[in-house]
Amino acid sequence: MPKTTFNRCRSCWLHIDKCICAYIQSQNCQHKVTIVTRAKEQRIVSNTGRYISMILPNSQIVRLDIKGWEQIINNLIQDTAYHHILFFPNPNTKPANQICKQLTKPLNIIILDTSWSSARRWARKKTFLNIPKIELKKHWQSNYLLRTTTQNNGLCTLESLACLLCELQDSKLNPAINMMNKVLKKMVLGMGSERGKLFARNS
Ligand SMILES: [Zn+2]
Repeated sequence: MPKTTFNRCRSCWLHIDKCICAYIQSQNCQHKVTIVTRAKEQRIVSNTGRYISMILPNSQIVRLDIKGWEQIINNLIQDTAYHHILFFPNPNTKPANQICKQLTKPLNIIILDTSWSSARRWARKKTFLNIPKIELKKHWQSNYLLRTTTQNNGLCTLESLACLLCELQDSKLNPAINMMNKVLKKMVLGMGSERGKLFARNS
């Protein structure tokens, strides 16, 4: 565990006096989000995947370091209420809004909450190989400098999900997108003051 955990909030992982939990309001989202992670990621203070389940009630965490995770994913993708899709680059995929237009049910967006190098390894696992992919088509630039290696486009997990929801072009998702962006900004400001500098690029 990091040496400074004793005075951190165990939900948002910021210092107790910078806790943003009271600020986070859950938001409706017709799509489900499955966050694939492991304990090591959850212990990283700058990890932003933890906020997804705090904002979106219809989300699920699957830990890759727990025995039987493959079966959990296999069971998950049998759920016929959703179109299961792995959020991972694949240039052969259609834009997110076009994928959605052709569907009669909501997405279950499976997101790999880890560094980009680990995500590439995870995506090659047999369990994920045959799940259709969805990727960002716009060239988004991260507004924050949280980790040296995050997604291949430099976006952290929460930011990349917010960008994907934007690309779905569905105004019903705006409250969720706005909350994600606000939480990210609050978190970065909290971390910035902790580290003695600001991490936001455009603030
Ligand atoms: Zn907190």
